[in-house]
Amino acid sequence: MDDCIFCKILLGTLPSSTVYRDNLCSVFLDIQPVNPGHVLVIPNKHSENLAGLDEETGAHLFRIGQRIAKALRQSGIKCEGINFFLADGEAAGQEVFHIHLHVFPRFKGDGFGLKFSPGYFTKHEKSELDSIAEQIKLVL
Ligand code: AMP
Ligand code: ZN
Repeated sequence: MDDCIFCKILLGTLPSSTVYRDNLCSVFLDIQPVNPGHVLVIPNKHSENLAGLDEETGAHLFRIGQRIAKALRQSGIKCEGINFFLADGEAAGQEVFHIHLHVFPRFKGDGFGLKFSPGYFTKHEKSELDSIAEQIKLVL
């Protein structure tokens, strides 16, 4: 993909601080980290979104993310906890359209947080949950 910054990083035409690479994925530091040690795990083959990614590669991104999480805890980088974050689609906050898994250290008072919609604070009825579960099950 000619205009994809992550493909350019993979090709070496843009710089990155690489942490790991194998035949399916690469890991490098995010240029604008939530906290130091924030990495991106990306497939080597360009895919804009999750729908375009084969399950094996998707599972591999998580497998390597898990390994990175363990390494972060052992690295000496400030890390009391870890978040995984993946934005699939613009509405979900995706800004770079080469799918990637964020893995970043967390610590108390780091200032990062999630903002919930007003509806979040109301528990839903079981019947409503069941009906939504059916909608998903039908197409799974
Ligand atoms: P997202 O909003 O999930 O698409 O995240 C895109 C991420 O890519 C952001 O956290 C950016 O800081 C990061 N990013 C953008 N350009 C670069 C780059 N050249 N090298 C490393 N990370 C980058
Ligand atoms: Zn790409």
